[in-house]
Amino acid sequence: MKVVLIGVGQAGGKIAQALAEFDYDRGFEAVQGAFAVNTARADLQNLDIDTMLIGQDRVKGHGVGGDNELGAEIMQAEATEVMDELDGRVTSEADAVFVVAGLGGGTGSGGAPMLARELKRVYTMPIYGLAVLPGRDEGAIYQANAGRSLKTFTREADSVLVIDNDAWKTSEESIEEGFAAINDRIAERVGLLLAAGEIVEGVGESVVDSSEIINTLKNGGIASLGYASALADEDAGENINAITSTARKALLTGTSLPQAVEADKALLVIAGHPDRIARKGVERARKWLEEETGSLEVRGGDFPLSSERIAALVLLGGVERSQRVQEFMDRAREASKQQEDPQESAEDAFQNDELDDLM
Ligand code: GDP
Repeated sequence: MKVVLIGVGQAGGKIAQALAEFDYDRGFEAVQGAFAVNTARADLQNLDIDTMLIGQDRVKGHGVGGDNELGAEIMQAEATEVMDELDGRVTSEADAVFVVAGLGGGTGSGGAPMLARELKRVYTMPIYGLAVLPGRDEGAIYQANAGRSLKTFTREADSVLVIDNDAWKTSEESIEEGFAAINDRIAERVGLLLAAGEIVEGVGESVVDSSEIINTLKNGGIASLGYASALADEDAGENINAITSTARKALLTGTSLPQAVEADKALLVIAGHPDRIARKGVERARKWLEEETGSLEVRGGDFPLSSERIAALVLLGGVERSQRVQEFMDRAREASKQQEDPQESAEDAFQNDELDDLM
């Protein structure tokens, strides 16, 4: 799937860049362009992709702190300038645009949903969010910001692929090391999914294409991505169990949104050397995924790669009613109550959102 990435805020810019680099290093050519927008000049200076500073008259390049309402206001006030910059970068070859942001802060949290709304007004391809939720250890304001942003983002974008910052970290890492490592994992896993949807010449019809990703995300709401990999035998016949157990791990322990298993739609991608992919294993894994997610629409496809390993990617669409998302919204609502200064928002889209149920 050919995509254009637009990072908003610090995390958004870093993740957009990491994804673009992964795609470039592997020669996939799924990422057509990556661009970063921020209110903080210093964050943009650390990036190698093209950037745009907004809100200079309001915050003088210093960022909005954790004020996501200000982030939303600035994005809205400068929407015309941002859309002008994007004109020409969002090419007609792109199958979709991803607006990338960490939702706990200010610029990405407030700005990403506003940008998604502007993009949807202008472009006909799907506009998706790639959103990072704050980890449990981050403070109340981050949780409250993310809750509100997630709700608005889910409404404005065609679908929001959510990554919980606690999901893909390993325990030994410090927060800073942790972010770099998590960004690499996001880049690899989301990068593989996007590359999987690219047409590869000279291969069979079981290969996944971009319409399957788009259809899995079609009903909107929140999406998650699971990933796991294992060494594969040279003989496909020996890999039936490897495929089924890798698919199970991708859904149950390798997911970007833990404990969100129930879904409207799902897509199972098995990546690996075509000679090592056991059809029987793929069929069994897909059947298992249907049972586990309760979804009546489970798609599947291969992603041929020259590798000794086999990887499973599980994209779930419509997980917003899952227990995990409800728990997060509870956490955000609670944090929101704790904030002493419930300033009235000047931004209508934010103002009108109560932190009640997401849908
Ligand atoms: P903004 O610049 O105002 O949009 O805020 P930041 O992007 O700095 O932070 C927003 C949230 O994103 C934080 O609460 C963290 O949860 C998360 N975050 C910040 N930097 C990174 C990063 O590099 N990687 C990841 N995965 N999350 C990050």
